[in-house]
Amino acid sequence: MQLHFDNSFAGMPDRFFTRQPPTPVKKPALIKANNQLAQRLGIDPVWLESGEGVMVISGNHVPEGADPIATVYAGHQFGNWNPQLGDGRAVLLGEIIGSDGGRYDIQLKGAGQTPYSRMGDGRSPLGPVLREYIVSEAMAALGIPTTRALAAVTTGEDVYREESLPGGVLTRVAKSHVRIGTLQFFAAQNDIEGLRILIEHIIARHYPEVAESPNPVLTVFESIIQKQASLVAKWQMVGFIHGVMNTDNVLLSGETIDYGPCAFMDTYDPAMVFSSIDQNGRYAYRNQPGIAHWNLACLGQALIPLLNDSRDIATELAKGALDKFPECFLDEYMAGLRSKLGLTTASTEDEALAKDFLSLLTKNQCDFTLAFRRISELADENMESSVSPLFEFPEGFAPWLDRWRARCFAEEISSAERHARMHRTNPSLIPRNHLIEQAIKDAYNGDFGLFHRLNDRLSSPFDEMSGDEAMARPPSSDQIVHQTFCGT
Ligand code: AMP
Ligand code: MG
Repeated sequence: MQLHFDNSFAGMPDRFFTRQPPTPVKKPALIKANNQLAQRLGIDPVWLESGEGVMVISGNHVPEGADPIATVYAGHQFGNWNPQLGDGRAVLLGEIIGSDGGRYDIQLKGAGQTPYSRMGDGRSPLGPVLREYIVSEAMAALGIPTTRALAAVTTGEDVYREESLPGGVLTRVAKSHVRIGTLQFFAAQNDIEGLRILIEHIIARHYPEVAESPNPVLTVFESIIQKQASLVAKWQMVGFIHGVMNTDNVLLSGETIDYGPCAFMDTYDPAMVFSSIDQNGRYAYRNQPGIAHWNLACLGQALIPLLNDSRDIATELAKGALDKFPECFLDEYMAGLRSKLGLTTASTEDEALAKDFLSLLTKNQCDFTLAFRRISELADENMESSVSPLFEFPEGFAPWLDRWRARCFAEEISSAERHARMHRTNPSLIPRNHLIEQAIKDAYNGDFGLFHRLNDRLSSPFDEMSGDEAMARPPSSDQIVHQTFCGT
């Protein structure tokens, strides 16, 4: 036995899920297994890549100890309430305890129909599987809380969207898959007992420290608010646009989930939207903090019955917690920007300094990632530049650069130290959308080379290696990807 399951969610009452084995596929073949992650989970990487392992991660064999389920949830999608969603194309095989002691969900995405599939086929084309693999692993390497990709396989079956495409299954690993929408499902049915069971599960699993607090539900709500603020601030720091920040795509654990129409910005443009289904720009880059706040308000609403016996008091408590979000976010956001600018202390002028830099980036249509990487180099003039062939500041930046240098010199750390810190904060590589699109296109033609190269190289995004230029460079005008399709 290779996977030592220890399932907790499958032990919850029946109304939380439906038992549902994955639907076998015709001809499973491994694309990639994540050896490092496997080791952290205590899974033998050799087994994972073996014929037996591939049978498990394609859904063709349910291993001993697994208790496959599809979970139910609801959610606000693009602001509209949907009372019944659920795992429509994903099956939770079970939970394992990693060698790090953590509890992890092992879920197969694209594993066939479930009672929550509605009109869908429960499958996934290869493209979205590869995108999620690349982006979720890149996010992890950038130090951003996220679900992980343990493996990807092709199914040997076609799925039909606008065209016929080869299918894939992704093995997703998460600290848990409980979403704001999961709580909303029970709240909407006035199932207070269900709500309580679920929040107790979340507290035990992710926030054990709040159990002792006088009002654990309020304290866990505050902790979740803090985690979301910190998460979205981290997204903003790398130019990540999630694309579908629906309440069913927000995990209570604080990990990023659902890599549908997501992408990283190249040129810094706060109004940027990638998703082809987001016609009003609800989930634009600059709206992400506000939407996180909105989603948390939905969570607060769902928690009302548990916050206090008096509805009025409960509402006041929820409101009080929610009102702290903007400040919480701004603190995280400013701390992130300071660190990107190489500042180790806080000063009142920092906010204007950062904002002016960002305005200059927009005005001059600069690449977000390379601009920050370039100032990291400018922090120590004795260092050679590897970015300058790819990016140089236009002239209009000179006064700002002088201001920034003066602010840096007011601090005590050496320029070499500042340079080193900035290089650990400002990546030279992000998963560029045009390269992901190219990797997907190549894969549809049977060539997984670029997919593998992207994964390999993006696992250390702060380092520099010779031959990085093609991966570090922003897209040329004919390579720019304007829209990313949800690809479900
Ligand atoms: P998403 O937009 O990816 O968050 O998905 C929203 C809902 O649609 C979830 O309940 C999914 O399980 C469901 N869904 C998406 N794609 C499919 C599919 N191909 N088959 C069945 N259900 C799907
Ligand atoms: Mg989703």
